Amino acid sequence: ERPVPSDIEISRSVVPKPISQVAKEMDLIDADFEPYGRFKGKIDLSVLERLKDRKNGKYVLVAGITPTPLGEGKSTLTMGLTQAFGHLQKLSIANLRQPSMGPTFGIKGGAAGGGYAQVVPMDEFNLHITGDIHAVSAANNLLAAAIDTRIFHEKTQTDAGLLKRQLVKGKLSKMLINRWHKLNLPNADEMDPAKLSAEDLKKLVRLDFDEDTITWKRVVDCNDRYLRNITIGEGKTEKNLSRKTGFDISVASECMAILALSSDLKDMRRRLGKIVVASSKDGEPISAEDLGVAGAMCALMKDAIKPNLMQSLEGTPVLVHAGPFANISIGASSVIADKVALKLVGTDAYRAEPGYVITEAGFDFTMGGERFFDIKCRSSELNPDCVVIVATVRALKLHGGGPEVKPGSPLPEAYTQENVDLVKKGTLNLAKQIANARQFGRPVVVAINHFISDTSAEHAVIKNAAIEAGAKDAVVCKHWEDGGKGAVNLAKAVEKACIGQDVSDPLGLLYDINTTAEEKLNIIAKKMYNADGVELSPLAKSKLEEYTRQGYGNLPICIAKTQYSLSHDPKLRGVPSGFTMPIRDIKVSAGAGYLYALAAEIMTIPGLPTLPGYVNIEVDEEGTINGMF
Ligand code: ADP
Repeated sequence: ERPVPSDIEISRSVVPKPISQVAKEMDLIDADFEPYGRFKGKIDLSVLERLKDRKNGKYVLVAGITPTPLGEGKSTLTMGLTQAFGHLQKLSIANLRQPSMGPTFGIKGGAAGGGYAQVVPMDEFNLHITGDIHAVSAANNLLAAAIDTRIFHEKTQTDAGLLKRQLVKGKLSKMLINRWHKLNLPNADEMDPAKLSAEDLKKLVRLDFDEDTITWKRVVDCNDRYLRNITIGEGKTEKNLSRKTGFDISVASECMAILALSSDLKDMRRRLGKIVVASSKDGEPISAEDLGVAGAMCALMKDAIKPNLMQSLEGTPVLVHAGPFANISIGASSVIADKVALKLVGTDAYRAEPGYVITEAGFDFTMGGERFFDIKCRSSELNPDCVVIVATVRALKLHGGGPEVKPGSPLPEAYTQENVDLVKKGTLNLAKQIANARQFGRPVVVAINHFISDTSAEHAVIKNAAIEAGAKDAVVCKHWEDGGKGAVNLAKAVEKACIGQDVSDPLGLLYDINTTAEEKLNIIAKKMYNADGVELSPLAKSKLEEYTRQGYGNLPICIAKTQYSLSHDPKLRGVPSGFTMPIRDIKVSAGAGYLYALAAEIMTIPGLPTLPGYVNIEVDEEGTINGMF
């Protein structure tokens, strides 16, 4: 029996403030803020310049233990904690990812939090917000079109014909000028193609794709499984130049990862240009810059780079920005949103007391948190003051040997009745997650997300285990049932943990950027996953050699594996040991700035179930959307 109304009923029960009022309450001035409708707006990046002399507020990362397939409540806690700071009269901003519409209409449901800890309006949050994902899709697909069109033109034209058509009013286009410099062709002062040797002219006008190496796919923000593998170019006009390719979900696009990791517009433009889409027949990487398309991609994403402002159920500010797919990317919201929020709650001559930015890392700490520090913080140079790890009785019971839990099926009795013993056995997983977080040198507070079937004896076991593993505190939170006031004790514990943190301390990262990629993989696997090490497949080895030769050897590494185990095998609960982690494949996201290693077959566009979420959704005559969660 659910003790509180449904998420959408709760969401509807409050009248959100006009968003311009939320902006005013945060001391945003007119120049900082653009409203998009009544309840959403965008924050202009000029605010970073205006507030540059402010000292950053406190930076709190919310991460989780190894979850059950039901989710243990990280987004809900992010909202509950920010609402709780409101009860303490402290400034606080929650930073969330923008959810993909794939899961919204599929099985998982939304990501707005739940119960009395949500971002509102929940339907607007789960649908388009201000269109950033569409902008990302447009940029991604422009690049895809550029690739295939370019191949078509190169296949159907002579070198002289290609040159003629790449000139602008008889002069070299910017694309050709860039290429001249990149290839170091002779006579860079004059740049007269007539004086080039036939071989150099060919290099100038042809990218010469090795089609087998094309990694760039098209994207759509829908769980459309029939697009996973497709053949393009079947029309007569394409002269039988068809090619097999596929779609990913939009949030899996490297453009989305770039949106999340860019520090400003200039940096985003630079990163878009660095995207590698394939190799040439000579084995050289071909980039978006080589195709001359990066400027236009940036134009499509220029408003997407501004964080979206929304609000919590209790009227506190929420920034929603970027949503890189946790399966293969960092699964955290943007660097820019964090930077903006940290200034907005920061201190200066007029404000002595810092506020709090609560940001979330998708998946468990071991994956989400590790990527947050080693990739996101390494790039942003921001350093969290505190890590909050969300734990639940049900997940610990699962790690302690409890039966499977499945979304949509009733929970087995072990989960609805007190079982201190299962919880106790499962605390090993929590202890390892705490130890992992502490490897980054930041204090850890455990949030025990309270479910109605929990008992205080079960909570006591979790609390003891957390403190023993080195957490500063472990606090039972009832924000789902009670809103912000249910998490006030957690807010106080977080406040205490943040005191005295010196964020100018060097980041406690796991590996030096200049160690080899294989060493980085081994360090992550041993220190985080408790593995004996990694074993690279022949494919992964040869690709790593190729990327190293191309100059991408010293990027950080994002490991893609299941979130349901510390290991690569989702069936292994608790803290597995004595295993070697297989790395099947390695890919590069040169623009986003990391290599990613696949420890399993990773799905990059989900499918829909037999009874998908969309069947419940209706719109009434007033335009009110019903049936969303
Ligand atoms: P995560 O971000 O870790 O995936 P969410 O915050 O999205 O998890 O929560 C997963 C689901 O569990 C949501 O539907 C949420 O409403 C629900 N939930 C979270 N906390 C509680 C709680 N204490 N009691 C009941 N349901 C909860």
